[in-house]
Amino acid sequence: MSEISCDEVLHEIEHYLHGELGQQQSSRLATHLEGCGPCFERAEFQRKLKEIVRDKCRCETPEHVVLRIQQAIRLEGEFE
Ligand SMILES: [Zn+2]
Repeated sequence: MSEISCDEVLHEIEHYLHGELGQQQSSRLATHLEGCGPCFERAEFQRKLKEIVRDKCRCETPEHVVLRIQQAIRLEGEFE
C-alpha cells in the first residue's frame, strides 16, 4: 500500500467522512490521520462542523449561518 500525501488526504477528507471511499482508500486515510497531526485536526474540524450543521438542520439553518460556516472553512484553509 503506497503512502498517501497530505494534499490527497485533504482532498479526500469530505468523501472519507461521508463514508464514500472504498475500503482500501479509507484505511489509507485512517493510517495517515493516525500519524499526521495537521491532517487529523483538519478531519476533526470537518467532522465537528458536520455535526453542528446536521444539528442545526433539524430546525432551520439561516442562510447567513451557512455562509458563515463556509467562510470559516475557507479561512481555515488559507492557513496551510
Ligand atoms: Zn497529513
